[in-house]
Amino acid sequence: MNILKVDVASIGAGFAGMVSACRAAKSGKKVAVLEKGTEDLYACSSRWTTGVFSTLGNPTLSPVEHLEQVISKANGAAKPELVRAIAENARRAHEFLKEEGVRFINYPTATGQQLMLAPPRSRGEGLDWEGHGGDVSLRRLEKNLNERGGQIVRGTRAESLIMENGVCIGVNAMQAGGPLRVEAKAVVIADGGYQANAEMVKQLLAPRPDRILLRAAPGGQGDGIRMAQAAGADVGGFGKFYGHVHHRDAMKNNRLWPYPHFDAMAEFSMIVGPDGRRFMDEGWGGVCQANAIAQLEDPLSAIIIFDNAMWEGEPGKARPTGVNPYLINGGGWMHSAPDLASLAEKAGLPAAALQETVRGYNEAVKSGRLGDLSPARSVKEHKPMPIAVAPFHAVPLCAGLTLGMGGIAINAHAQALRADGSIIPGLYVAGTPVQGLEGGPRATYLGGLCKAFTLGLLAGEHIALSI
Ligand SMILES: Cc1cc2nc3c(=O)[nH]c(=O)nc-3n(C[C@H](O)[C@H](O)[C@H](O)COP(=O)(O)OP(=O)(O)OC[C@H]3O[C@@H](n4cnc5c(N)ncnc54)[C@H](O)[C@@H]3O)c2cc1C
Repeated sequence: MNILKVDVASIGAGFAGMVSACRAAKSGKKVAVLEKGTEDLYACSSRWTTGVFSTLGNPTLSPVEHLEQVISKANGAAKPELVRAIAENARRAHEFLKEEGVRFINYPTATGQQLMLAPPRSRGEGLDWEGHGGDVSLRRLEKNLNERGGQIVRGTRAESLIMENGVCIGVNAMQAGGPLRVEAKAVVIADGGYQANAEMVKQLLAPRPDRILLRAAPGGQGDGIRMAQAAGADVGGFGKFYGHVHHRDAMKNNRLWPYPHFDAMAEFSMIVGPDGRRFMDEGWGGVCQANAIAQLEDPLSAIIIFDNAMWEGEPGKARPTGVNPYLINGGGWMHSAPDLASLAEKAGLPAAALQETVRGYNEAVKSGRLGDLSPARSVKEHKPMPIAVAPFHAVPLCAGLTLGMGGIAINAHAQALRADGSIIPGLYVAGTPVQGLEGGPRATYLGGLCKAFTLGLLAGEHIALSI
């Protein structure tokens, strides 16, 4: 069997693995990043990312106390120690990345100046990752790692952790040529989570994974969670996912995801099920909308209804969230009709029910009594508009799953924990597959990049100091 001896082995060469590796290598540690992808530009969510480095939608450079407060308020179940670690260190992760030569731009939003990896993608239609922020930044981090004597070992799938007396001392991996034993003083699980594993999605997130769009790279197969659990780590916090709402044809047309998505349009209008009735509070935004759709008996049966004032006005055309004209440019389509009864017929909905739903909704919009609707309707970022101006439109939807929430328990240094709270020496977790920050009834989403950058830095720093 081939044997590789290093100080640090990171499993997965997305941002979480690369940041932990670069940080440890900067302190002189010998580092290998095991990456199962074989291509130079192996697919991973970090490469495909849009690149917004926010903390629960707030600018990452906001005051620490503000970030701590908003995260705790949004998700009461979040672990205070981790909330504090993120609030305190996200800006340090930004500093570290800048020192590494990763470039950001600032762009203004309703919540303030956000950081975004440069160069930004268009957010038009389809997956235009090459040469944009995620891709360019990963290439830069790999160059830095190589210059410090580290390497990405491609075509290497980690399969199990090597444990000795409760301490993690390495990883067993598989390569095309056979098994590889990697002996390491510290191992970082950074494998990108479990959303691409249909069995795990079925068990942990939603009953019909075959009718949900994987809005992410296919690498996240849950290997890290499985390995850590076998090594005695506590796993949990599942049940919700981060994602967006797309045209149903995104299931087979790659130009309809990751953009355009219908999250904002649904906040201005309404989503109905096959019975022509609303079934969720659209005001909570795209992550909640996608989770609600995924829980339907048939997750491909949801339909968004809006009018021409929305399609031609701000909801349809505002940037970066508008779907007009990207939906059509990307090969998407919609049902359109001069009245609601004809629209219902085209969309296969019961006409009387749809008319009644729209009537009740319009009255609530007009009177401002949206909370009286059933389900009640919240107003967050976008104020609902009446569905009143012909032609009326209907678009069949699907739920896009970007990353599953929940995973391995960690402390503020990103060290893996057992159920009794004790540390598993030598084992760290960064990026997607952690518990204690996201989830809860409103599917609170911290930010995939925030987790990858900040926990990657914390893991790399702790390793640098302790081995
Ligand atoms: C289209 C899209 C847009 C997004 N936009 C944003 C955004 O604007 N802002 C934001 O905060 N987040 C965004 N995200 C989410 C964010 O990009 C991810 O959460 C983050 O990049 C995940 O980083 P990671 O290192 O944890 O995982 P990944 O980038 O998925 O990397 C994991 C790596 O591990 C490898 N791997 C898996 N299993 C093994 C194994 N057993 N052995 C070896 N290697 C393995 C995989 O091949 C992969 O390369 C977006 C995601 C997508 C897909």
